[in-house]
Amino acid sequence: MEECIFCKIVNKEIKANVVYEDEKVMAFYDINPQAPFHVLLIPKKHISTLLDIEEDKILISEMMVKIKDIVEKIGISKSGFRTVINCGKDAGMDIFHLHIHILGGRRLSWPPG
Ligand code: 5GP
Ligand code: ZN
Repeated sequence: MEECIFCKIVNKEIKANVVYEDEKVMAFYDINPQAPFHVLLIPKKHISTLLDIEEDKILISEMMVKIKDIVEKIGISKSGFRTVINCGKDAGMDIFHLHIHILGGRRLSWPPG
């Protein structure tokens, strides 16, 4: 997707602080962190939202499994962390390229705002 910011990060047209990358996924630090550790895990393929994953079941499950490696790498696996997938307007979704927020490094309140 030409105008998609996350596709541009995948294509290295926009710089990001990358934590993990392989042929299918990429994880990088959020530019506006909401916790001491705030990483975004994305598929390299442009998938718009959680409502569009039907064709990509294997890729989505691989992303879920990858979270463990990422939280171990950034050092929040033992203290705990939260994953968030915003979907649509009421969730405050800004970028319509599927992403999993991984947040940690502080006590996170519940319910979320
Ligand atoms: P959403 O609200 O769509 O779930 O989350 C989008 C996230 O992307 C936000 O947390 C925002 O800070 C982050 N973000 C937006 N633009 C960039 C960027 O250019 N680089 C990085 N690393 N994060 C971005
Ligand atoms: Zn995209």
